[in-house]
Amino acid sequence: MTGSEILRNEELVVVCCPDISGHLRGKAFPLADLQARLQRGIGWCPTNVQITTFDFIADTPFGALGDLLMIPDPATQVRVDFGDGSASEHFMLGNVHETDGAVWDCCLRSHLLEALSRLQAEAGLSVKCAFELEFQFLDDTPNYGPGFSLIGLRAKKAFAEQFLGALRQAGVEPDSFLKEWGAAQYEVTMHPRIGVTAADHAVITRELARATAERRGEAITFTPIRDPDGAGNGVHVHISLLDDEGRPVTYDSAGPGGLSRPAGQFVAGILHHLPAIVALTAPSVISYDRLTPHRWSAVFNNLGYRDRESAVRICPIVELPGMDPAPQYNFEFRAGDSAASPHLQLAALVFAGLDGIRQGMEPPPPSEEDLSLLSAEELQRRGYVHLPQSLPEALDRLAASDAVRSWFGDRFIEVYVKHKRGEMQFLEGKTREEIFQAYEKAY
Ligand code: GLU
Ligand code: MG
Repeated sequence: MTGSEILRNEELVVVCCPDISGHLRGKAFPLADLQARLQRGIGWCPTNVQITTFDFIADTPFGALGDLLMIPDPATQVRVDFGDGSASEHFMLGNVHETDGAVWDCCLRSHLLEALSRLQAEAGLSVKCAFELEFQFLDDTPNYGPGFSLIGLRAKKAFAEQFLGALRQAGVEPDSFLKEWGAAQYEVTMHPRIGVTAADHAVITRELARATAERRGEAITFTPIRDPDGAGNGVHVHISLLDDEGRPVTYDSAGPGGLSRPAGQFVAGILHHLPAIVALTAPSVISYDRLTPHRWSAVFNNLGYRDRESAVRICPIVELPGMDPAPQYNFEFRAGDSAASPHLQLAALVFAGLDGIRQGMEPPPPSEEDLSLLSAEELQRRGYVHLPQSLPEALDRLAASDAVRSWFGDRFIEVYVKHKRGEMQFLEGKTREEIFQAYEKAY
């Protein structure tokens, strides 16, 4: 080695896992070691799963002990060079294993893979999903123009074009981008993908939105709700079912709202278990400010026919001549937000849906009215259950569900509840305004 060689930057690849706080966390290694790392992974520490969104470590059953391996899945590789001299975004999602290769029982992506393989084995079905993500720009501009307006879109079109370019380069196919109704609120949707890839694309989309904003000197937030008097930032998961041959089996013109028998049972399972799994799909303290009437989110465990105030909405299909309804038909889960890991959200929905199929549950008649106007007696008569109204209530419902424990395992549920209690502990003594601000900053 002579002293005259010019230093060359070492490209780093990050292997990261989706975690309970809804973030991606991982470690970087030199690109030159990629082949070796794909085999042996990188070391990981069990207590990392208890790092909350506020960077405060919740009560951990692992303490300082233990070692794990995070093994990257090359199918998730993202490599985006923004061409502005900044370091490229180069990361892969990984699964967390014990050092002997066994799946770690607190690995979120593995829980989703398990849910999907059970759905396949027991019902011969796979899921095709697309995530719809809402977010807001954070600056002193109160809004960038009216909802859905060209004015509002134009204000962020340069961001949008760079962001959608980054998505495409990462292998995520953008579907649409729009100025949403809320203050400085926008929405991005990607094309549906089968199985775990749908959740992978949701986290990649969120991360590339942040990566684009940062490079442009803009700030965004995916917080579940920024202003208690304003619109929330939802995550809507569009789901359809495919059979063993990859044929769409969600639609049946004779079924309720057009739901086929397996799709109706799947939806019935989600609605039945929703009060217990909402702690996984809408998991922050302020998520329950979003799940309130007249915000176009969800308040009850209802199935809605083209109704945007429902936990599960039957979505429209294009009925123009020559358009086949079967491949278009899908239902949308609306009681989720970006404080959750998309992998955990989808795992919970698939486990719940499979349970609906297993038990032959019947879907309720689809609602097409404002349920908040019905009396408590009428709601009860029709079988609508109010979703939990706070995170502690949701966690109690989660911990009390034997079904959910059987899907994820007692240890994971214990760890999850401790994590969320740690998040609440961090917020103790803060005003409501400070709590909203803390989430806005964290997501
Ligand atoms: N912002 C609403 C939510 O919190 C959804 C609006 C819509 O896209 O229907 O879920
Ligand atoms: Mg929207």
